[in-house]
Amino acid sequence: MDRKQFVKKFEQHFAGKPRVFRAPGRVNLIGEHTDYNDGFVFPMAISFYTTIAVFPTRDRKLYIRSENMNELIAIDLDANATRRNHWSDYVAGMANVLEAEGFRLPGASMLIDSDVPVGSGLSSSAALEMSAGLALLSTIGSELALEKLALLGQKAENQFVGMNCGIMDQFISTHGKENHALFLDCRTLDYELVPLQADDIRFVICNTMVKHELGSSEYNKRRAECEQGVTLMRADYPDIKALRDVSLVQFKKVQHKLPDIVRKRCRHVISENERTLQSMTALNSNDLEKFGQLMNSSHDSLRDDYQVSCKELDLMVELARAHDGCLGARMTGGGFGGCTVNLVLANSVDHFVENLSKSYEKETTLKPDIYISVPSEGAHELI
Ligand code: ADP
Ligand code: MG
Repeated sequence: MDRKQFVKKFEQHFAGKPRVFRAPGRVNLIGEHTDYNDGFVFPMAISFYTTIAVFPTRDRKLYIRSENMNELIAIDLDANATRRNHWSDYVAGMANVLEAEGFRLPGASMLIDSDVPVGSGLSSSAALEMSAGLALLSTIGSELALEKLALLGQKAENQFVGMNCGIMDQFISTHGKENHALFLDCRTLDYELVPLQADDIRFVICNTMVKHELGSSEYNKRRAECEQGVTLMRADYPDIKALRDVSLVQFKKVQHKLPDIVRKRCRHVISENERTLQSMTALNSNDLEKFGQLMNSSHDSLRDDYQVSCKELDLMVELARAHDGCLGARMTGGGFGGCTVNLVLANSVDHFVENLSKSYEKETTLKPDIYISVPSEGAHELI
């Protein structure tokens, strides 16, 4: 939908000439479960956006309509809003953290629509937070540095929504750039935009259409196991603060001292950090074969050592790898369902999509959604 149509839709529900902002979802190419270990990630913004048209009101109320949810919600900014376990929490949470920063919001009418698949691991949540952040700031004619906006989005999701996520999703949703992937150091927030405009490849995202419920409890367990690994390895390396500080060589010297499970978890995170660094080098020298191999190893490590895959993700990856034009395939996101990301030669993409879709459906009776995306631009105003 272009800007004009979007504004028209806004006017069907609300008064005023709105400004329009949008922020993309993302796919993580490599570097999984490394963010909360102070490590490296390598996502790109996708060409799927959450768009918000916004016009200020003066009654300190937010009137928020989501087209996706087909629902209008009113929130009183003076009522000390707290979590309702409702989609509007993401917007209320952004308003809450902005007010805590000293921005006094006048109230606003907001129309939301998104083509980011919701709840599929492509971060519709960060796309909503970042577009809402820009929209709310516009009602007082303010802007924030992108890094600050990303950090506030993470804070809203951690503290208001109650999801203990890292910084990757909000960071890429704000800092993404057309034809670039973004290498991010989650400790320092130093980043590098790495050109990715090879005409002869595509990133194909395959949705398994399943989401197993153990996700959040297992996530907390993995975090605790990583922390345990750091504590235990401090006996030999007193200066380490996170798994990020341990090299693979150092790890190999002490791994026999760790309990089985902790050893596996640490091996994943430490090797994944190295793979992520190597994948940046590979991309910089346009070695896509190597990039694909690193994606493959990443998946195997997530499946065997970190144990956050599931049979549907493994099947999707296995079917993809059987295809000639596929250079690499891995699960992406937290795991236990959601999507895979595949590096595929452009001239075999149609065939790849058709084959994979058929064979996955045959084995599971589920029809997978498949998205093809180029690296896209981060959050911005549509003018
Ligand atoms: P993901 O970020 O992987 O898509 P999450 O569970 O983190 O999955 O976030 C999905 C939630 O974000 C939805 O359940 C909903 O509450 C909220 N959300 C995302 N996009 C929208 C939207 N366009 N309209 C309303 N709520 C949305
Ligand atoms: Mg999310």
